[in-house]
Amino acid sequence: MTMDANELPIRHLATLDADAKAAMVLAAEQAVAYRAGLQDGPAAPQARPAQMGGRFDGDLAAKGEAAHDVVAGMVDMAGAGLHHHASPRFFGYVVGGSMPVGVAADFLVAAWGQNAASSWETPSTALMEQAVCRWCLDLLGLPAESGLGIVTGATVANTQGIIAARDALLARQGWDIGEAGLFGAPQIPVIIGQDAHSAPMAGVRYAGLGLGNATRLATDDQGRIRLDALQNALTACENPPLVILQAGQINTGAFDPFAQAIPMIHAAGGWVHVDGAFGLWAHAVPALRDRLAGVDAADSWAVDLHKWLNAPYDAGLCIVRDRSALVSAMTARGAYLPALGETWEPSESTLELSRRARGVPSYAILRHLGADGVREMIARHCDLALYLAAQLTAEPGIFVLNDVVLNQVAIACETDEVTKEVLRRVQERGRVYPSHGEWRGRQIIRASIINYATDRAAIDELVLEIVTAHQAVMGG
Ligand SMILES: *Cc1c(COP(=O)(O)O)cnc(C)c1O
Repeated sequence: MTMDANELPIRHLATLDADAKAAMVLAAEQAVAYRAGLQDGPAAPQARPAQMGGRFDGDLAAKGEAAHDVVAGMVDMAGAGLHHHASPRFFGYVVGGSMPVGVAADFLVAAWGQNAASSWETPSTALMEQAVCRWCLDLLGLPAESGLGIVTGATVANTQGIIAARDALLARQGWDIGEAGLFGAPQIPVIIGQDAHSAPMAGVRYAGLGLGNATRLATDDQGRIRLDALQNALTACENPPLVILQAGQINTGAFDPFAQAIPMIHAAGGWVHVDGAFGLWAHAVPALRDRLAGVDAADSWAVDLHKWLNAPYDAGLCIVRDRSALVSAMTARGAYLPALGETWEPSESTLELSRRARGVPSYAILRHLGADGVREMIARHCDLALYLAAQLTAEPGIFVLNDVVLNQVAIACETDEVTKEVLRRVQERGRVYPSHGEWRGRQIIRASIINYATDRAAIDELVLEIVTAHQAVMGG
């Protein structure tokens, strides 16, 4: 049946009619207003799902609305349910602050509408992304010849690194996984610390290696793997293993002992993958580099751009020393794609083919900050973490459980009940927003100092909120 030309109205014949233009301008204006409001506004959302009042529950209407009205309505309806992750007083999880220059660049990414898979098709965005890769390798102190995939974040970066490791370890044993698959393949022992993040463990599952088969290494009081446990695990391996190390434990900020561990793993023929979602950025600050000593000898690394670089979501890097290991794991070669040459091809380094030019906002942020600005930001956050710890431990009944070596501070009160009640009150007031965690069997209030705009005044407010809530809970 052919459609009657009158049945469906074709509303927009112009590439940019007045309504579309008004919608784009309104979105930009509203974005600016939102960001301006973060300076003094709350850090917590006004509404949780139960308070959203079904405002997004309606059926899809038969008739469309004007573009401008859609945007205006979204701004109106979304406000209460926005969590202000970009606030300088948001200290939850480990999340960046979507720096405005990166957000502005993200507008352009969306407007340019580049399908960023091929450097030949979309040279401007591909070259900007290549600059991001080059600059980040330099800032992170990782080998310049590495292959990089610009991915959605550290979960995918870890997964891709683990897949590249899996394929390379099997290839060294004469097994072509691309042809033969995983069934019947030689075993790959997986070794990972007891205090690893859940993301690389998910990567182990996604790569078909089976988390149940992994050896979990004992860790010390800061969550670092123990070298004696590593040696025992390596000795027990019948085949070359995949060992996953960590730069930046989520509760303590601690770093695994790379300088000792990596040579041991390589002596056993193993592949070292490092989850450094935020911790790898410590290399940008000379005074913090000792924490990462030896990490550049690993085989692959995962790092986020949307955490410490403060890029808008979603952006991270999968970095593999042997570029061909990454490319052969990720390529989905088709006749219309450029041949594998010396140039970096976006689609050869990630799981996706079509994708947005998600590295471009980081290009803008890196140009805006410069290397000095990146260094200053990371150094400031680590200084502020020490300042926070000193302020809090001066208060009777409040304790910092970790050695503050980076930007993470694990805070506890007299008992788990008091800690939880203090956090509940602090979050409910919403001026600052740390989040909960658990460390060595204790409930903690976890503060991550990572937002580009966080300054000493923001930390003073965090201290005041926690101390005041603690005194109220203790009846003081
Ligand atoms: C945040 C984080 C991840 C996961 O990163 P996403 O960007 O959320 O996918 C992995 N490892 C560590 C150590 C992290 O802090």
